[in-house]
Amino acid sequence: MKLTNTLTSKHTELSELGLNPGDTVTLYSCGPTVYNHVHIGNLRTFIADDMLRRNLIAAGYKVNAVMNITDVDDKTIAKSQTEHPDLGPMEALIETTRAYEAIFMSDLAAVGVDTSIFTIVRATEQIGPMQAMIADIMKHGFAYIAEGSVYFDLAKYQAAGNTYGQLINVDFSPQARVDNDEYDKNEARDFVLWKGMKEGEPFWEFALDGHDLPGRPGWHIECSAMALANLHTQPITIHSGGIDLKFPHHENEIAQTIGATGQPFTQIFTHHGHLFVDGRKMSKSLDNFYTLEDIVAEGYHPLAFRLLTLQASHTSELNFSWDSLDAAQNSLGSLYGWADLRHQTNLSELRFEPSVIDDTLDHMTQALADDLSSTAALAVLYRFVAELAPGMRYDEEDSAELFGRIDALLGLGLSDRSDINADQKKLIAERQTAREAKDYAASDRFRAQLERRGLEISDTPNGPRWRRLELTKPEKIN
Ligand code: AMP
Ligand code: ZN
Repeated sequence: MKLTNTLTSKHTELSELGLNPGDTVTLYSCGPTVYNHVHIGNLRTFIADDMLRRNLIAAGYKVNAVMNITDVDDKTIAKSQTEHPDLGPMEALIETTRAYEAIFMSDLAAVGVDTSIFTIVRATEQIGPMQAMIADIMKHGFAYIAEGSVYFDLAKYQAAGNTYGQLINVDFSPQARVDNDEYDKNEARDFVLWKGMKEGEPFWEFALDGHDLPGRPGWHIECSAMALANLHTQPITIHSGGIDLKFPHHENEIAQTIGATGQPFTQIFTHHGHLFVDGRKMSKSLDNFYTLEDIVAEGYHPLAFRLLTLQASHTSELNFSWDSLDAAQNSLGSLYGWADLRHQTNLSELRFEPSVIDDTLDHMTQALADDLSSTAALAVLYRFVAELAPGMRYDEEDSAELFGRIDALLGLGLSDRSDINADQKKLIAERQTAREAKDYAASDRFRAQLERRGLEISDTPNGPRWRRLELTKPEKIN
């Protein structure tokens, strides 16, 4: 398995790190801030993280993977105050963030993210490791206390021979201090590790260097501390996240970890490209800010969105448009039409060579092991479906295994396709009897009834074939 590594600007092959199939890979992925529904850009990143985990497993690695939930920061606190003005600050925060976390988890499942292969860790439940890390940074002389908060001291960190600017070029000219967790300019600034308590906000007690510092953690310390505390290795193997997190978030994570431990943080930093809408950055003011709920309300299948994201390299920018989602939904419909043949064993007689299936799956696995090249893997799959699959005998058990193996790589839900129900089967048989009796008026009536039940019927030399109509093109949005 090789991955684009932002630390080296090259690909890193896991075997170069001494990691071979059978070995354990540790993986930390930055998760969401749970103060609202996530948008489809966020979901693109989380689908890419899912592809990373699945395909490390497919490549033979054991995977120990963690994702954080940021459930304490300026945005979550502000939202909790408006949603639950009646509750105390800590209760309001927990109430609000748990609700958005539950929506997030259900969005993940809907877009095919396998939530059983990683662990979720919440910032509010890991304050201890964060405080311990801040104390270590302080002990090494790379932090200072000012006005009840604790800051990272970049000048001292650099003076000790450490590099700040491992992921991007950092401008060192105007030195300043920031309380905000997010800032745009590539400037070196002393960033906050621990924020002093503000009236009416949730806080934790913190005794540091003889000072009482009630407050809450900064965003960056969260990820450094939770990665090490939950993955139990240093360096971890892979750290992933969206491209916007490269600076300052990930640069600061590196500095904090080295500042606390003197050891490197991660061997690979891999960044997923951003999703744009109609060529523009998503924003509320442009009214092009979509959630999964929005696209489902327009008649699209959540996995059509997943397929759309798999049609680009995970490191590239991806442009979302309703036309591209239409096309993805059509492609998903064709794949599902194929997967539904598993329940129509009457349609083909030919036995399919298992070695052809193995070859196809090997090619897909190899493509995905090359920096998660889902585009190449999909090309192998589409070729298989178009050229080889028509001659296949759809033995129920073998094909369940085949679709399960494709799903393990791509997460497109092919093996979840259920059979039609007894009522639909009866109508198909009745239509067939009417056709054989050349009663075409009755046969048309049955066809119309089947369409109302979501099925389209076509006649093949081996008998009638049904397809579900659920993924036909939704009405276009104007
Ligand atoms: P946040 O909740 O803002 O911390 O974002 C959660 C994840 O989504 C991070 O890994 C971000 O880098 C990623 N992300 C944010 N905006 C986009 C976007 N437009 N496209 C892809 N990923 C994004
Ligand atoms: Zn993070």
